[in-house]
Parts: sequence; C-alpha cells; structure tokens
Amino acid sequence: MEDGLSSFWGPVTSTDWCEKNYVYSSYIAEFFNTISNVPGILLALIGLVNALRQRFEKRFSVLHISNMILAIGSMIYHSTLQHVQQQGDETPMVWEMLLYFYILYSPDWHYRSTMPTFLFFYGALYAVVHALFRFGFGFKVHYIILCLLCIPRMYKYYIYTKDVSAKRLAKLYVATLLLASICWLSDRVFCKEISHWHFNPQGHALWHILMGFNSYFANTFLMFCRAQQREWNPKVVYFLGVFPYVKIQKPKSH
Ligand SMILES: [Zn+2]
Repeated sequence: MEDGLSSFWGPVTSTDWCEKNYVYSSYIAEFFNTISNVPGILLALIGLVNALRQRFEKRFSVLHISNMILAIGSMIYHSTLQHVQQQGDETPMVWEMLLYFYILYSPDWHYRSTMPTFLFFYGALYAVVHALFRFGFGFKVHYIILCLLCIPRMYKYYIYTKDVSAKRLAKLYVATLLLASICWLSDRVFCKEISHWHFNPQGHALWHILMGFNSYFANTFLMFCRAQQREWNPKVVYFLGVFPYVKIQKPKSH
C-alpha cells in the first residue's frame, strides 16, 4: 500500500493494518496507530510512580515499566511497519504475560526459585525461537493460551475480594478487554468496507487506547490484591473523583 507521502522506512515487511500508510508524515507509517500508544505510556507511568512512592514490591515496578516498553515498542513498530520491529513488539508481549503469570501464581508456589527460573528460561527460549521463525498465527495462539492460563487465578482473586471498588476495577478490566477485542477484530475483518468510508474509525488505534486502560486496571487490581495478602490495608481512592488508584497503609511495627 503506497499511499500519500513517500515512505522513509522503505517497503512494508510486517503485517500491514487497516490504517492508510504515510498519510500525515513520511516518518510515521501509521499515524493514529502510533500516537494511540501515548495514553498507555502515561497510565503506566502513573502506575509506576504510585508503586514506587508507596514502596510496593519490585515486581509491580517491573510490570509498569514493561507496560511502558511494550507501548513504546508498539509505537516504533507502527511507525515503521518493519518485520524486525514487529518481533520487537511481539516478544515483550509474551514476556509481559509471563510476568503476570508470576505475579498471579507465585504467592501460592511452594518451591520459590523454580518458577522464576523456569519462566526466565521460557522467555529467553521464546525470544530466540521467535527471532528465527516467522510465526504469525502461531504467535496469536500461543499468546491467547498464556492469557487463558491467567484467567482462573484472576477469577479466584475476584471471588475473594470483598471490597466493592476493587471489584469494580476487575469489571473495568473485563469491559475494556471485550471492547478492545471488538475494535481489533472489526478493524481486521471489515477493513475493506471501512476503507470506502469517508471516515475511518481507526479500530486498531482504539484497541491501543483501550488496552492502555486495560493494563492499568489489571495492574491496579493486582496491586490491591497483593496489598491485601500482605495486610497493608489497601483502599481504592479516586484522583479528582474519577481516576482510581490504590492507597496502602503498611503497619508501623516493621
Ligand atoms: Zn498495534
């Protein structure tokens, strides 16, 4: 698809999305798919500051930073549409799921060092294999399996949480995930039709924005659950009455 301005990055070698290429700048292949990652970066930054300020465990800082890296990787990928950048976007997606897996399951794990070691080698092996082969469909199946593995434990946390505001975070997580998936799918399936419209609703860009919020709600809910396990008296409070985050009060005696 050679539309509009000339392309600084050369011919497209990755998956090409429904948005027309090089319309607004010859340096940015897909303009909306690139800038729609900015809210996700800002939300992850807010989460990171909150985790550091209240001295949450390091795993949460790593989680927020990995969300930021992912969004930045996505910006680079959508602005260049090159195969290498697509790999650079997809490999961290898998690492991040392994991190979620660790946060969800490690509190109940008996052999403390086996799981992190296994997950680390699994992540490293995946990166190597993914660099050598083009997956496409296989990548999506593998990623969806990783997501499905996390759901039962998320559900268990949801059941055990009594706090209404924390439960609302989990509901927002599910709602944004469903909406985002609908946007992603319809952009993919109806691209031909959409391309004839005067106005492209930019389903893939909406997916980025919604997934930015989705990660924020997931991380905030997990921070709440972890704080509850550690008996840090977590509360969901709202900045300016709308924006939720977790506030904790650690016992003074330690
Ligand atoms: Zn994308």
